[in-house]
Amino acid sequence: MFTIAIHGGACSVTRSELTEEKEKQYREGLEEALTAGYNVLARGGSALDAVEQAVKSMEDNPLFNAGRGANLTSEEKVEMDAAIMCGKTLKAGAVANVRNIRNPIALARAILEKTENVLLDKDGAMAFARDHGIPFEPDEYFVTEHRFQMLQEAKEEEESNNVGKGTVGAVALDQEGNLAVATSTGGIANKKYGRVGDSPIIGGGTYANNRACAISCTGDGEYIMRAVAAHDVFCLMDYKGLSLREACEIVMKEKVKELGGGAGLIAIDRSGQVELVFNCESMLRAWRNERGEGEIAIL
Ligand code: ASP
Repeated sequence: MFTIAIHGGACSVTRSELTEEKEKQYREGLEEALTAGYNVLARGGSALDAVEQAVKSMEDNPLFNAGRGANLTSEEKVEMDAAIMCGKTLKAGAVANVRNIRNPIALARAILEKTENVLLDKDGAMAFARDHGIPFEPDEYFVTEHRFQMLQEAKEEEESNNVGKGTVGAVALDQEGNLAVATSTGGIANKKYGRVGDSPIIGGGTYANNRACAISCTGDGEYIMRAVAAHDVFCLMDYKGLSLREACEIVMKEKVKELGGGAGLIAIDRSGQVELVFNCESMLRAWRNERGEGEIAIL
């Protein structure tokens, strides 16, 4: 038995903006990423490898707010956050505000594998990347016209929370029964002062534990962190015995929503059950299991 689920960001697309062409592109991007992760699981690979491959695919695709095509800071730079966690060992690796790293999720994975640390930031994380042969790219690789426009809109609105969201993530259950999660993002458009979102915060936007589930969040990071959303889903299942669906609905549609955050999450439990829950208009999302069941959806 194996299953994978992915997201390409919540609250980032509105019904009115979603042209036929845009929808086609999103669906193709999601299909490609889902297949990259699914193929790892189908040939008996680990959940950790599967979520890394799925997220890498979306980091390489300029459509999504991660890696190439990520949001721009107020200074027109791309600064990215990412995290990966293994539900079996509870080992985790994360990076905050790294620049010029082609695949921040590969750097997070190297931190998980090769250090005793969990979270490295900025120059230190980039020095570690250099020492470990992680690929870099020049600024032009990351900056797209679309994100530049979004930054101008965000600056006009003077409220970075309303424009330019999105994040990518994946959760998986492998044939050995292990769970894993990966999340990667450019954060919100027009972010300032070294702002870090929920994605690289273990327990905030990213958490996996074989005792219950794996969760990747997306949306208003400040609210997700304050709700400790990913770990809260785990706690409701592990301590209180709630089902995956009950736990996800309480955290996303009650806790995060009541705080005021527009957000979503994808989650998977030990039986391969998947939940894709969001409290706003859209979440780019997809899942597939070993029987070929699944879906790709946006609104
Ligand atoms: N959660 C991300 C952050 O706050 C952004 C998003 O998913 O929309 O950095």
